[in-house]
Amino acid sequence: MAYTVIDHNHDVVVVGAGGSGLRAAVGLAELGLSTACVTKVFPTRSHTVAAQGGISASLGNMGEDHWSWHMYDTVKGSDWLGDQDAIEYMCREAVRAVVELEHYGVPFSRREDGKIYQRAFGGMTTRFGEGTAQRTCAAADRTGHAILHTLYQQALRHRVNFFVEYFAIDLLVHDGQVHGVLAWNLADGTLHRFRAQATVLATGGYGRSYLSCTSAHTCTGDGNGMALRAGLPLEDMEFVQFHPTGIYGAGCLITEGVRGEGGYLTNSEGERFMERYAPHAKDLASRDVVSRAITVEIREGRGVGPRRDHAYLHLEHLDPAMIHERLPGIAETARIFAGVDVTKEPIPVLPTAHYNMGGIPANHHGEIRRVDSQGREEIVPGAFAVGETACVSVHGANRLGSNSLLDLVVFGRATALRCGEVLTAGARLPALPEEATDRILARFDALRNAAGSEPTARLRERMQRTMQSEASVFRTKETLEQACRDLEEIRRATQDIRLSDHGLVWNTDLVETLEYENLLACAIVTAESALRREESRGAHAREDFPERDDKKWLKHTQATLDAEGRLSFAYRPVHLDPLSGEVPSIPLKARVY
Ligand SMILES: Cc1cc2nc3c(=O)[nH]c(=O)nc-3n(C[C@H](O)[C@H](O)[C@H](O)COP(=O)(O)OP(=O)(O)OC[C@H]3O[C@@H](n4cnc5c(N)ncnc54)[C@H](O)[C@@H]3O)c2cc1C
Repeated sequence: MAYTVIDHNHDVVVVGAGGSGLRAAVGLAELGLSTACVTKVFPTRSHTVAAQGGISASLGNMGEDHWSWHMYDTVKGSDWLGDQDAIEYMCREAVRAVVELEHYGVPFSRREDGKIYQRAFGGMTTRFGEGTAQRTCAAADRTGHAILHTLYQQALRHRVNFFVEYFAIDLLVHDGQVHGVLAWNLADGTLHRFRAQATVLATGGYGRSYLSCTSAHTCTGDGNGMALRAGLPLEDMEFVQFHPTGIYGAGCLITEGVRGEGGYLTNSEGERFMERYAPHAKDLASRDVVSRAITVEIREGRGVGPRRDHAYLHLEHLDPAMIHERLPGIAETARIFAGVDVTKEPIPVLPTAHYNMGGIPANHHGEIRRVDSQGREEIVPGAFAVGETACVSVHGANRLGSNSLLDLVVFGRATALRCGEVLTAGARLPALPEEATDRILARFDALRNAAGSEPTARLRERMQRTMQSEASVFRTKETLEQACRDLEEIRRATQDIRLSDHGLVWNTDLVETLEYENLLACAIVTAESALRREESRGAHAREDFPERDDKKWLKHTQATLDAEGRLSFAYRPVHLDPLSGEVPSIPLKARVY
């Protein structure tokens, strides 16, 4: 095994060029820190480009609004698992963040008077649940596209150093500290060691652990896998959000903005069934509630279609001119993937894996934190996480729609600001023993030359099917134990993996294998964490424990891999106190829909 490794030294290395990675990189470069941004896909192809509905902020352009109402909704949406200090920070920062995006050049949709247009989204209310808030700022139904392209332009303007189509394999770790990352240049097969004072993981979610998901093929939890292998914890991984309206069969997303604009769901009897499950919020109840309602309708025999296994989403009563102006992308998606003209017929939909609330635990400065042996929180030096790969935790047990794009830019900026405070531009980097690199190369080399009998694609599909059927919208002890057993078998079978391409140049077989290993790690932690959490909260619906149990489970799960490769679990209290003391803590309540 002889690999030549090319060295790069920077103040900060950001892994990922989605909304969170780019916002962090722009802020870092603005502060004069030398910044490398390593990304496995071209920046504007990151999954953020697919975000449709919008980004939340209490601008109050369409009626009254206040950040403390946004905070209330987010805490309630999180089913009280969200940390209230971080949520306060995000909701207060939201208005500034959206104005900043506007000044950067994001082409938001406008009202007649020129103000940013805002639409209704699930769970977003005024006056602590009294009315419906129009809080979600949109650029038609292509908001992520608009934001990502604008941030990329800003990053170029600030001379961020991009390393495009470089695959980050693992973190360089020595003495419990993160020193950078080792990456592989996919185009020419060279290996690169990025040393830095701080490493920011911004690698997105792991939707591809499931068979049917709305996320891109690149959402493979690479940052989570790297964190776990580096001995860092993963937090609240049992909470996986199912979006109620993925297109039946294809999984592509139909934004909640459709229901925000007046769309509604029906069952085989033509009934608007959400009126029964959430008499108040109806079709705009939060995603966990709507996903469960659709699943129950199907289970009880009221699904639509020949197999009675999905529901209908109607837009045909809406004004076609409005659809053309505000929802052009979903009209196109429905035509291509469901063969449906949305002005004439309903779209067939089904709950589909959409978002990972869990991830690498980070505080509201983006710093990775873990629980020490005495149960105290400590910061991991030199390590940051932002975006969907992180768990701040602002989304708790269930994220509200349009709060993720917000999370990306608010905590991307916060991370840059923190680095500006604690780092010195151009500071010398400490020596790093070769062992830190060799360990990573040994794993890379073993996978590259793996000559067993199981092709990656087959193992991946087994894992995806297991997660889809056993760790889905509803869970029980039996299904989760089954998931853990199956995943353990798949993990063993992985030792006999076979790659057909052993080269280094554009070896997609090896890329997919590295990604698969990361996905499998995420899947195992998700199922094991879910099995332990004996309650129902947010997106985690245990049929055998249908109630939320604040006495036992008002806490965050943290899973770590020990030296023997076994998972161990620790728990961290939820932060119930807000940051500033200007607003009271939002008291625990049962959720009323
Ligand atoms: C279809 C869809 C619609 C959505 N709509 C909305 C919405 O309207 N509003 C909202 O708030 N949220 C929405 N979300 C959620 C939101 O878009 C995502 O959570 C968010 O975009 C994730 O951004 P990110 O920066 O964390 O990561 P991503 O945008 O996923 O980017 C990840 C980056 O990491 C890089 N990367 C990953 N692994 C590696 C590696 N090993 N080496 C190098 N680089 C790596 C990739 O190249 C990429 O640049 C939607 C999600 C989906 C899937």
